This record gives sequence, structure tokens and C-alpha cells, in this order.
Amino acid sequence: MAACATAGLPALSLSKGPAVRCARRVSDLPRLIETGMIPVDYHLHSTHSADGEASVLDMCEAALARGLREICFTEHVDFDRSDPAYGHLDWPAYTASVAEARSRYDGRLVVRQGVEFDFRRAYGAEPGEFLAGLDLDFAIGSVHSAAGYQIHRLHAERPARLDLRMLLAEYFVEIEALVASGWCHAIGHFDYIYKQLPDLVSGVRDDWYWRSVERILSGCIAGGVAVELNTHHVLDRGAAMAADVEILRRYRALGGRLLTVGSDAHRPGDVAHAFPQAEAMLREVGFEAVTGYARGRPYAVALA
Ligand SMILES: [Zn+2]
Ligand SMILES: [Zn+2]
Repeated sequence: MAACATAGLPALSLSKGPAVRCARRVSDLPRLIETGMIPVDYHLHSTHSADGEASVLDMCEAALARGLREICFTEHVDFDRSDPAYGHLDWPAYTASVAEARSRYDGRLVVRQGVEFDFRRAYGAEPGEFLAGLDLDFAIGSVHSAAGYQIHRLHAERPARLDLRMLLAEYFVEIEALVASGWCHAIGHFDYIYKQLPDLVSGVRDDWYWRSVERILSGCIAGGVAVELNTHHVLDRGAAMAADVEILRRYRALGGRLLTVGSDAHRPGDVAHAFPQAEAMLREVGFEAVTGYARGRPYAVALA
């Protein structure tokens, strides 16, 4: 997959659908409606992911109820054969679900089709070969494990002797390899380890840490790879947006402009979770637009 150019992003004029719409089949969805100033959610999972809990249509209903105008499904693709989720994604069935949603919500909700693929250097060329065969709008590459640890488990199962610097160093090496691969449009949940272990990682955010982060961010900018602001940690860790603000400040200062925002929702009630806080933080850092993707091509979506 070719990396995308950063310059001259055209602004997309999204049709204005109804800002608020009641969810018919999403009974647990609160009638917010914090009509997010961020009108797009670029990280959603449906039951086409092994851990998704709702259909594509139910997630679309939730998006409309939240006042979103555009969403992108990013179903998991795993390459670890020992993972129960391996081989779960049925691309033709997924494509049919998205086509049904596009037809049903035409003129009200833009529905993009993407993936979130798991990246490890150990997978070799397999992810690239798999992705090359897909006609998709958007691909998130995410590093979920490093140095033998499943990162999302670190919060609950903190190892007694965790060499944090070694873990961070290994994570950064994986992320740099992902950026260099040219396979993804965006890096998923950047600084995932910080989001799982904020108290520990904040103690090592020193010169070495920031040099590593800035080297990776510079690589993203040079390669046309977006950084993702993922709000899921606000939901599952109660972590504030402070987890991202310094990274995004540095990214912007280095010239980074490609920025996607996603709730990483696996159920309707989590769609666009914490978007008001995310929007406030983006404005504080200086972003007035986020990035959408159509068949791999980025465009700017202004914050309303
Ligand atoms: Zn992920
Ligand atoms: Zn995800």
C-alpha cells in the first residue's frame, strides 16, 4: 500500500445529515447527545472482529445517534496463528455488510471500510501481502505486543520484574518498523504502553523517551503516515487526555498534520466516547481538522 502525501489535503464537504437521530435498536445508548465537534469516528469494530459485540448496522445507528456524519470500520486482522481471532475476518461478508450500510444510510452517514491489523516484525511479509489484496479505504497498523508481553494485559497483570525501558525500547522498534513498512495509513493508539501504565511510564518520559518518540513522529511525517488519537483509554483506564497532549503537541511542532480520531468502540454505547474531551485537547494543541480516508487517499475534515 502506497504511503499518502501530506501536502494539499482537500477539505471534504460532508453533507449535513440530521444531527441527532434516535437509535431504534440500540436501547442502551444514552440520548446524549454531545454532538461531537469531531464529526467522524475512524476506529470502530463490529462482529466482523472476533471481539466486536454489535453488527455494522447497529454501530451505524449509534453513530447517527451521536451526531456523527462519517465513520470507518476498522476490523481486526491478526497474523498470530495461535490467537483465537486468527482468520476471523471474512472479507466478502464484511464488504457486503458495509455495502448494505452504505445503501441504507446514503446521504446521512458516510461509511468507510478499513482494518486494524496487528503488526509484529516477526510476521515478516505476510501483513503486506494480505493488505495488498484488499480494496479498502483505510488501514490502521497497531502494535499490541512487545518483548513477549501482550500490552493490554500489563495493567491487570503487571509483571513483578518489568524492565520498563526494555519494553518501551522494543515497542518503539516495532513501531518504527511498522512506519517503515508502508502498509498502514495510521499508527493505532500511539504510545499504547503509556496508556496501560501511565504511572510507570510517566517516570521515564525523559530525554531518551522523547528522542525516541520524536524520531518515530518524524518518520510518520516523512512517510505520510497519520497518527491516531484513540480515546479508548479514557473509557477503560479512566486516563485523561493528558496521555496524548504532549505527543500531539510535538507531532504538530514537527509538521505533523495527518491525524485520525477513533473511539475504538466494540459496542454501540462506546461510539465516539470522550470525543468532547478529545476535541478540546486537539484545539488546545492547534488542530482544527482531522483526517478522513477514501480508498487510501486522505482529506481534511474540519472540526465543526
Ligand atoms: Zn488495537
Ligand atoms: Zn481497535
